[in-house]
Amino acid sequence: MIFDYPEPRSQRTHGPSGYASYVSFRPWLRDEFTFRCVYCLKREMWGQVTCEFELDHFEPQSLAPDRKLDYFNLVYACRRCNSVKLDQPIDDPLSMLSSDIVAVLPDGALVSHAPDVNRLIQKIDLNSPILQRWRVMWMRIVDLAKERDSTLFRQLMEFPDELPNLGRLRPPSNSRQEGIEVSWYAKRQRGQLPEIY
Ligand SMILES: [Zn+2]
Repeated sequence: MIFDYPEPRSQRTHGPSGYASYVSFRPWLRDEFTFRCVYCLKREMWGQVTCEFELDHFEPQSLAPDRKLDYFNLVYACRRCNSVKLDQPIDDPLSMLSSDIVAVLPDGALVSHAPDVNRLIQKIDLNSPILQRWRVMWMRIVDLAKERDSTLFRQLMEFPDELPNLGRLRPPSNSRQEGIEVSWYAKRQRGQLPEIY
């Protein structure tokens, strides 16, 4: 289901560090978060990629200036979610928004039994009427495409053509070099990229 959060994972795949500017982490974060907003799961392929996705410091720069260039403090987020979050400090969404903790109802609402996850849902306003309607609309669009238009279905669900080739990047250091082997680009090179996700 398109709004199911990812399987829980204890750590990140990549660990680049040493860049002089946090925008240099963008290709790593696109790959890490599978070309989707970590909060609402909006996909790059559902819009015009340019300028729609931003890099969010989940510990805000104003409160944790020392983490401005810390890859582990950065997430990939759509403009909507980043602008709602603003300077609110939150816990790492990677450990909070996963399929074992959050479920999506057919009416587009998110439910969780974990109080800290509910606080995060509130802070990012992920259960606003507009977002619930948006989820229902996209579920319907994808269902209809699946039934009637296989080309459109694939376009809505596939990976972007332009996958970041992380092996060609040269961050000053990388604590998880092995992550490059399981990047989406490397999977495509090996013929292991799923057609849709
Ligand atoms: Zn979002």
